[in-house]
Amino acid sequence: MHKYSRKLVDENAATFVGNVNAKGLAKTKMAKSVLDAGWGMLKTMLDYKCDHAGIVFEEVNEAYTTQTCSCCGVIPANSPKGRAGLRIREWSCAECGALHDRDVNAAKNILAVGHDRLAVGIPFF
Ligand SMILES: [Zn+2]
Repeated sequence: MHKYSRKLVDENAATFVGNVNAKGLAKTKMAKSVLDAGWGMLKTMLDYKCDHAGIVFEEVNEAYTTQTCSCCGVIPANSPKGRAGLRIREWSCAECGALHDRDVNAAKNILAVGHDRLAVGIPFF
């Protein structure tokens, strides 16, 4: 657990997490410790360590990150939505034609939201 959060901090100048769940992390090889320790605890730990290391840690609103095309920024009619959308693993944007893996697309959007927030200026230690 400690090792994992330390590693995340070491490898990233800024760390962004979605605020809904740990699904993304649960797919990595660290899944077991993420689930064992609990998502809330991991976030608390990351927050603390980032603070110490002078690294940005931001919790990002995950709403729409699955539905929005990370390529063109629109929410096309055919993107994964609601309960039915949970079964959709891959989709291509009706607007720009980009092919998306559901989770990769969501991750890109979370990163984009985080970067936007940095661009407008968070009080930075
Ligand atoms: Zn698109």
